Amino acid sequence: MKRQRSLKIVATLGPASSDRNTIKHMFEAGVDVFRLNMSHGSHDKVGELHAHIRSIEEEAARPIGIIVDLQGPKLRCGTFANASELLETGQNFRLDLDPADGDATRVCVPHPEIFEVLAPGMTLLVNDGKIRLRVTRSTSDFADCEVMTGGTISGKKGINVPDAVLPLAALSQKDLADLEFTCNLGVDWLALSFVQQSQDVEVARFLARDRALIMTKIEKPAALERFSEILEVSDGIMVARGDLGVELPLHTVPPIQKRLVRRCRAAAKPVIVATQMLESMVENSTPTRAEISDVASAIYEGADAVMLSAESAVGRYPVESVATMNSVAVSAESDPTYREIMDASRRSSRETVADAITAAAREIAETTDVNAICCFTHTGTTARLVAREKPRVPIVVITPFERISRRLSLLWGVHCVTSEFVHSFDEAVEIATRVAFDQKFGSGDDQVIITAGVPFNVSGSTNIVQVAKIVVT
Ligand code: ATP
Ligand code: MG
Ligand code: MG
Repeated sequence: MKRQRSLKIVATLGPASSDRNTIKHMFEAGVDVFRLNMSHGSHDKVGELHAHIRSIEEEAARPIGIIVDLQGPKLRCGTFANASELLETGQNFRLDLDPADGDATRVCVPHPEIFEVLAPGMTLLVNDGKIRLRVTRSTSDFADCEVMTGGTISGKKGINVPDAVLPLAALSQKDLADLEFTCNLGVDWLALSFVQQSQDVEVARFLARDRALIMTKIEKPAALERFSEILEVSDGIMVARGDLGVELPLHTVPPIQKRLVRRCRAAAKPVIVATQMLESMVENSTPTRAEISDVASAIYEGADAVMLSAESAVGRYPVESVATMNSVAVSAESDPTYREIMDASRRSSRETVADAITAAAREIAETTDVNAICCFTHTGTTARLVAREKPRVPIVVITPFERISRRLSLLWGVHCVTSEFVHSFDEAVEIATRVAFDQKFGSGDDQVIITAGVPFNVSGSTNIVQVAKIVVT
C-alpha cells in the first residue's frame, strides 16, 4: 500500500474516532500518523487507541506513527453537568476551585496558581479564543468574570491568560505520568505544549530516554523569540496555530507559519501545520474554499504534514476530512508550480558527506529516469536529508528498526520499509531493488537510486550513491 502524495496527514483521535473500524477507515483514507491528546484521554483509553493503531499497522504491513500530545502547562476548565452550556454575552460567569461539575453560572479551573495572578480587567480566552471573559473581581480561590464574547463552553476547554505570566512548570505532574506511561506503551513522538525555552525540550528528552522523539509545539511568543535554540534541540516542530492565534494577533500567524516551515526545512526537521485546517468539517461534509486553500498553502510552503484536530477528534466527518486533505495534496503536488516552488526554495547548507550524497541523489533523479530514491538508514538522519531535498520521486527508506520506520512516517515523501540488516553494498542493491519492486515503485528494467553508507551498520556514514536496475527474477 503506498500513498499518491508526498505530504503526510496527521489526525487526532477522540470520541468521534475511537472505534477500530473508524480508525481503520481513516488510515485507508490517508492518515500516516495518529495524534493522541493527553489533555482529553485517560490512560486506559489511550492504551486502547494505541492497541487499535498497532493492530491496523500489522494488518496493513505498513508503519504508522503515533504522536502523544502532552498537555503541558495549559489551563483548562473542569467538566460540566450538562455536556455543554451556552454563555451569553454580558452575563456573569465564575471560575473557581470547587471540583463539582459546572453549569451556566460557574465552572472549576483546577489551578490554584492562576487565581493568585488574576486581577480585575484581565482578559481570559476560552477554547482557542472563541469565548472571551473579563475579570471583574478576583480572590485567591475564585474569579468573577463578565462574558465579553459569548459562546458554547464544554468540559476541559483550554483557557489562555495573555495578560499574565503564569507560574507553571513546563511539565506538570500529570505530564510526567503521561510521558512515562506512553513511552512504555511505545509511541513514536512526544509533542510538548507551551514550550518557552530549549531547556523545556531537553528535560523531556532526558525523561524520554530515546523511547520517543521530541516534537515542540510552537504556540508561545517566548518560543518564537528563541526559535533557533529550540529548533536545534527538537526533532520536529508543530506550528500550533490554535494557541498561537490566541497568544498573538491572528494576522501574524500566516507569516510565522511560513517562516517556521522554511526554517525547519533548512534544518532537515519535520514540521506539522496544525489547527482549524478544515474546521467547518466538524459539522459539514464539505469544507469551505478558504479551508481548502489553507491546506494547499501549507503544502506549497513545503510542510511535511498537515493535521486534523477537532475535525477528526469530535467532528461528524473524520474519514471525509482525511480524504479531503488527501485530495488537496494530490492535486497541489501534481501542479507544475508546486514543483517550481519546491525547487526554488531549496536552501540547505551543505557541510557533510551525507548532505552531498543526498543532494546528488536528488539531482540524479532530475536528470535520469528513475522511479525512486532508496535510502538505507539506521537513525533516520539520511532520510531527513533526502526529504529536505524534496526530490521529484518517492523516497523509499529502508531500515532494520521498526521504531525508526514509525518515526519517519511523518516525513515528507518518505515511504518506510523495515527490512533485515544489510552487510554489504551488493546486498543493499539487491534489497533496495526487491523492496522497490515489492512495494510497487517499479518493475523490470526500471531504475532506482540507492544511497547507503559503507561500512554497513555504522551510523552517520552515508557515502555512496548508485543507480541500479530493478531486475525481476
Ligand atoms: P491542544 O491545545 O493540545 O490542541 P485541544 O483542546 O485544542 O488541545 P485537540 O486535540 O486539538 O484539543 O482537539 C480539538 C477539539 O476537540 C477541542 O475542542 C477539544 O476539546 C475536542 N476534543 C479532542 N479530544 C477530545 C476528547 N477525547 N473528548 C472531548 N473533546 C475532545
Ligand atoms: Mg487544538
Ligand atoms: Mg494547543
